[in-house]
Amino acid sequence: MPSQGQTADRYRAVQSRIQDAAVRGGYSPEGIHLVAVTKNASIAQVRELIELGHMDFGESRMQHYLQFAAQVDDFLERHRELGPTEGRIPQNIRWHFIGHLQRNKVKRILPMTRLVHSVDSLRLAEEIQACPLQRESATEVLIQVNTSGERGKYGIAPAAVTHLIDQMDTMMNIRIRGLMSMAPQVEDPEAVRSVFQRSRELFEELKSSDMTGDEFDILSMGMSNDFEVAVECGANVVRVGTAIFGPPAEQEEETSTSTTSDA
Ligand SMILES: *Cc1c(COP(=O)(O)O)cnc(C)c1O
Repeated sequence: MPSQGQTADRYRAVQSRIQDAAVRGGYSPEGIHLVAVTKNASIAQVRELIELGHMDFGESRMQHYLQFAAQVDDFLERHRELGPTEGRIPQNIRWHFIGHLQRNKVKRILPMTRLVHSVDSLRLAEEIQACPLQRESATEVLIQVNTSGERGKYGIAPAAVTHLIDQMDTMMNIRIRGLMSMAPQVEDPEAVRSVFQRSRELFEELKSSDMTGDEFDILSMGMSNDFEVAVECGANVVRVGTAIFGPPAEQEEETSTSTTSDA
């Protein structure tokens, strides 16, 4: 059992490491958003972060995503009923879907999702575009790009990104907010610097091209193992799980499909 406060301590430590990395990279720390990845978190840990005022949560597995989002809704609802709170609890939580999204899951995921980080095919984009939703605004997405060139990883090849964005140009229900990329899992975070730099270059190229608008401004990269390098390379969204919530403890094995094999 993680003791009370441990999550908060780790959370603060991650935040200050992000700030230091931003300064090293010459960026304003306020411009960098931390998405807390709940894959190995308990609902108690999620609530602890919300009580600290944290709003952005990410999840890669559909069942966990739906379950946590519902539990967090209940939690916020109960707080609202208690009347004005101490002021720290956010009114709303922003859920980020960061995992591989199967087309038949789109309809379940979209209604509560603020940002889909993982659009990696035209067919998925078409499914999102066609999804019957009570939309107040377009669905915001990132294009997941496989800058490392590793085989068996999700994400489209850098050379194919322009074409995909072009094909999505007429999809009025989708707004492309930027890119997401993942680095290979290696011991030394420095080894992934070149991957992040390539992602950054591609991001800048697209940003300054006339294919994208002003709203193309998110570069999501960096996880527990490498978020500092990612921030130094210009990430403005990092997705951090383990460094906040601790390593996967005795969680029951998940049977979700994943191409990452931690052998
Ligand atoms: C699990 C996951 C993360 C967070 O990984 P940690 O190493 O636990 O920080 C970030 N992004 C994606 C896409 C993930 O699946």
